Amino acid sequence: MTAPTDLFGYTGLLTDAESAKLANLRALLEERARPQLAQWWEHGECPAHLRADLAALRLEDDPALLDGGDLPRALYLGFRHFELARFDMSIGTLYGGQVAMFRTLIRKGGSAEQVARWDPHIPSFAFTGCFALTEPGHGSDVAGSLTTTAVRDGDGWRITGRKRWIGNAALSDVFVVVARDSADGNAKAFVVPRDADGVSLEDIRGKIALRMVRNADIVLDDVRVAESDRLGRIDSFRDIAAILADLRYVAGWNAAGLQAGAYEAALRYTLSREQFGRPIAGFQLVQEKLARMLGNATATLAMAVRLTALRDAGTAEELHSALTKTWAADRARETVALAREVCGAEGIRVDSDVARYFADAEALYTFEGTHEINSLIVGRAITGLSAFTR
Ligand SMILES: Cc1cc2nc3c(=O)[nH]c(=O)nc-3n(C[C@H](O)[C@H](O)[C@H](O)COP(=O)(O)OP(=O)(O)OC[C@H]3O[C@@H](n4cnc5c(N)ncnc54)[C@H](O)[C@@H]3O)c2cc1C
Repeated sequence: MTAPTDLFGYTGLLTDAESAKLANLRALLEERARPQLAQWWEHGECPAHLRADLAALRLEDDPALLDGGDLPRALYLGFRHFELARFDMSIGTLYGGQVAMFRTLIRKGGSAEQVARWDPHIPSFAFTGCFALTEPGHGSDVAGSLTTTAVRDGDGWRITGRKRWIGNAALSDVFVVVARDSADGNAKAFVVPRDADGVSLEDIRGKIALRMVRNADIVLDDVRVAESDRLGRIDSFRDIAAILADLRYVAGWNAAGLQAGAYEAALRYTLSREQFGRPIAGFQLVQEKLARMLGNATATLAMAVRLTALRDAGTAEELHSALTKTWAADRARETVALAREVCGAEGIRVDSDVARYFADAEALYTFEGTHEINSLIVGRAITGLSAFTR
C-alpha cells in the first residue's frame, strides 16, 4: 500500500510497472528534495532543477507504462499527482503545471500539426509552458470579462493585456495566453514565446501558500504571434471551459495527496510526542481528530478514483468534477487544520511539515475555480437554475 490513507486498496488496481514507477518517484523526492524542503519553503525558492530529475524518471512516457497509446493509464496519472501532493504541492505544481495543465491544453486545444510539433517534447521539459488566463481585474468572472485582446494583423495577431497569478511563468519558455478576438468577441488561445517583443514579467512575492511556486504577472504589450501559434481547436470560451472542467479532476487527486501527507505527518508526531506521561496519540480527543483526518483523506481519494473512472468511461460531467473540487478542497482545509492543531506549537514551524500542508491548502481552495464558483456550477447542475449573475 503506498499510503495509509488508501484504506480501500485503490493502489491494488495499479500494475506492477505503475507501482514501481511511483515508488521511484517517492524515492527521488526523499533523496533530492526532502533535505532542502523546509529551506526552499521558508525562503520561497523554486527548486526548478527538479524538472530535470523528474523528467529523467520518465513518469509520463516510459514504454512500460503506455496503455496502447501515447499516454499512461489515467489511474496511474492520478496517483502520480497524489504522490507529488503527498510530498509537497509546490513541487506537484512545478511538475503538474507542465504535464497536466500545459500538456492538456496543447493536446486538446491544438490542431493535429500543433500537437505533433509540441506534445512529444513536453514530458522531457525540452521547453516549459504554463497557462495564462486570470487577469488582475478578472478571476472568477474572467469567462465573460476577459480584457486581453487579440487583433488580427496579416498572417498573425497582436496581443495586448495583462495576466496575473500565472504559475511557473518565470520558468516558462512559452505561455498559453487566452485573449479576446477583437473581431468576433470570442476567446482564443495563443502560444506566446517568453522572449517575444513586448512580453515582460513581474514576480509575485510574499505568498503564504505554494511558496516555492513562481507565480507572476505577465504583461503583453502589442505582442506579435503567428496564426500557426494560435491553438487551432479553441474557438470560444466554451472550448477553454471544457478543458478546464476536465482538468479539475487533478484537484481531487491533489486534495487527496495533500491530506495523506498532512495526516501521516500528524500521526507520526502524535505517536512520538508525550504529555502527561504517554504519547498524545493515546488521548481520546486526539484520536477523534486523527479519525476525522483519515476519513476525509480516504473519502477524497475514493472520489478522485471514481471521477477518474468516469472520465475514462466518457461519462464524467461538469457536475462531477466541480463537486469533487469544491468538496475535496473543503475537506482538505479541515484535515490540514486538524493536523496542525494536534502538533501544537511544533505545528507552526516550517520544518514540521504540517505547516506547509496547512498553508498550501489555501491555494488549492482558491485555484481551479474557487469554492464558491464550483459550488455555483454544482448548484446550476442540480437545480437547473443559474445563480451566476451573467
Ligand atoms: C497559487 C495560485 C496559482 C494560480 N495559478 C494560475 C495559473 O497558472 N493560471 C491562471 O490563469 N490563473 C492562476 N491562478 C488564479 C486563480 O485561477 C484565481 O485566483 C481564481 O480563479 C480566483 O480568482 P481571484 O483570485 O481573482 O478571486 P476573485 O474572483 O476576486 O474572488 C474573490 C472571492 O469572491 C468570491 N466570488 C467571486 N464571484 C462570486 C460569486 N458570483 N458568488 C459568490 N462568491 C464569488 C470568490 O469565490 C472568492 O472567494 C492561480 C491562483 C493561485 C492562488
